[in-house]
Amino acid sequence: TVKKEQLLEWLKDCAAVFAEQRDYLTQLDAEIGDADHGINMNRGFEKVLEKLPTMDAMSIEMILKTTGMTLMSSIGGASGPLYGTFFIRAAAAAKGKDELDLTDLTAVLEAGVAGIVARGKAEPGDKTMCDAWWPVLDAAKAAESLEAALPAMVAAADAGVASTVDMRAKKGRASYLGERSIGHQDAGATSTMFMVKALSRAVV
Ligand code: ADP
Ligand code: MG
Ligand code: MG
Repeated sequence: TVKKEQLLEWLKDCAAVFAEQRDYLTQLDAEIGDADHGINMNRGFEKVLEKLPTMDAMSIEMILKTTGMTLMSSIGGASGPLYGTFFIRAAAAAKGKDELDLTDLTAVLEAGVAGIVARGKAEPGDKTMCDAWWPVLDAAKAAESLEAALPAMVAAADAGVASTVDMRAKKGRASYLGERSIGHQDAGATSTMFMVKALSRAVV
């Protein structure tokens, strides 16, 4: 199962990763966007990191909700409301849980992704973060144990990110470029992949 301490470890790891990958994500966004995705994710998770000490006493639901509200108010751009909604919807799905088994974790992630879709209306192949999230969810659903799920989710995230390269963007800023968005890796799918990898490190 995933314990509360592991979720806190995950958020801390995300903050470290987004500090480390800030320039890389920003460079990806520079190619077909406005060169701020790394800055956005770094700023958002720095704020989450600041709130971590206050989260020690919270339930899983409140940890996820606080994270979502913090990201929502600090990221800005398209990804702020999207990742914010992800965590807020995930929180609602974690209500009453002291720990998450594979079924719970899958339900929590699925609710989060449904929130992103409700907000951003992305469809498969639109070259968004959802093109990383959907294969990750499929991998989680197909797995027979949490131990098997995490590496499968990481592999699915990598494959999802790679699949965005040949896509033509239909949502967000990159869609303004039309055909010219083809041949570039989506920044948001890449940040999703980093979050999934951090999760797999936290849940061992
Ligand atoms: P902005 O584009 O406002 O500068 P960011 O650069 O932080 O915001 O985030 C851009 C990322 O957000 C994109 O790479 C893409 O993955 C994601 N994105 C944009 N629009 C949508 C959408 N409608 N649905 C899902 N993801 C989206
Ligand atoms: Mg941007
Ligand atoms: Mg921007």
